[in-house]
Amino acid sequence: MDKISIGVIGAGAAGYFAAIFAAQNGALVTIIEKTSKSLSKVKISGGGRCNVTHAAYEISNLSKNYPRGEKFMKKVFRHFAVKDTISWFESRMVELKTEQDGRMFPVTDNSRTIVDALESAALINGVKLIFNYSVNGIQKEEGRFIVRSKDRHLFFDKLIVCSGGSPKMDGFNFIKNLGHGIAAPIPSLFTFNTPNEPIKKLMGIAVPDALVKLEGTKLSYRGPVLITHWGISGPAVLKLSAFGAAWLHEKKYNTNAHIRWVSTLSENEILEHLSDFRNNHPKKKVVTNPLFSLPSRLWEHLAEKSEVERDIIWLNLPKKHIHKLVQNLFCYIVRIEGKTTFKEEFVTAGGVELDQVNPETMESKLIEGLFFAGEVLNIDGITGGFNFQAAWSTGYLAGMSANQQ
Ligand SMILES: Cc1cc2nc3c(=O)[nH]c(=O)nc-3n(C[C@H](O)[C@H](O)[C@H](O)COP(=O)(O)OP(=O)(O)OC[C@H]3O[C@@H](n4cnc5c(N)ncnc54)[C@H](O)[C@@H]3O)c2cc1C
Repeated sequence: MDKISIGVIGAGAAGYFAAIFAAQNGALVTIIEKTSKSLSKVKISGGGRCNVTHAAYEISNLSKNYPRGEKFMKKVFRHFAVKDTISWFESRMVELKTEQDGRMFPVTDNSRTIVDALESAALINGVKLIFNYSVNGIQKEEGRFIVRSKDRHLFFDKLIVCSGGSPKMDGFNFIKNLGHGIAAPIPSLFTFNTPNEPIKKLMGIAVPDALVKLEGTKLSYRGPVLITHWGISGPAVLKLSAFGAAWLHEKKYNTNAHIRWVSTLSENEILEHLSDFRNNHPKKKVVTNPLFSLPSRLWEHLAEKSEVERDIIWLNLPKKHIHKLVQNLFCYIVRIEGKTTFKEEFVTAGGVELDQVNPETMESKLIEGLFFAGEVLNIDGITGGFNFQAAWSTGYLAGMSANQQ
């Protein structure tokens, strides 16, 4: 019997994984790439180190890191999850290490190691590559796919679309024309600009465990917060930007955020803590003795904002100012006016609607023999290796399924 031919659109992480697993099972596989290079994002990812995945071994925990696609990915991860990623790279002689925050990198700290592993696996399995071929149309005729560029066309029995995300709807036109619904692209993973807030002058300060909330929503996240030249950043802010992406987009990135600088304490507990300190150290100056292990510049700023006089001692601090200090510690309000792309790892939310794709196979529910994998789908993860994990898992499943049916 003739081998089936499978076309894979896009030479990124998902495209390579899909191609390798499809070819490993005996299909004739061709990757079609619009640029002259493969794996461009893998090369630059994680600051050149490639944050391959995250040490989140339980599927229920792992899937919680996807603001869009949590339920879908839960099903996909039953087929291929973090341990499978680690084993696959190990089988290609690539050892991964886990950093304190759970991010996993190659022990070489060099994304080239990951690129080499993918390229050699594709080569060994006979995957063909066609560069400078920008797909602008797909048709299915008499059971075969015709994949068109401006001046050429190719035929395949099955097709796996791994063309990545796009900040513009136009980037999805060739998929839309097949009848597939596309969730409008919106940015995810960004930091908040606070151009008119005095907090900016504290740039460089990091608070290891704060809680940031979007006013008017139930969205709040805990974690490190950094004050930058532009506004506020850090894992808590990035997580909030990802889970609040649609809401923030609607608000045109103009809204208030509330910061609780001591994330673990209630308003009353903060007040109690201040009162205890006042009783135990009545002669100490308020401004120059930071509490809750907060950075001294931040503490001074909070005191100043609470109208605490520079030389006042705790004994003489009026109740009114204690309450203001509690308020600023518990719910510090900053005006967000715009956003800045997080340079380390940016992704676009939006893409192929998930209700039109089977999470057990990655096959389109509309067109038999058509599969999707990677960021082209309306799936995105928070920062920390979750986006590549989604590319590996969906790529694996699409590649395996395309060759099985
Ligand atoms: C700077 C940066 C750093 C990142 N770092 C990390 C990280 O450390 N960890 C992590 O988990 N995630 C990271 N990400 C996110 C991660 O890179 C993506 O989620 C992942 O690359 C998606 O893989 P993909 O194969 O779906 O898409 P892509 O990698 O975008 O690949 C899609 C490919 O399809 C091609 N293509 C598009 N349209 C067509 C067409 N019409 N015809 C032919 N070819 C086409 C593109 O040229 C591209 O090569 C980072 C992203 C960026 C931008």
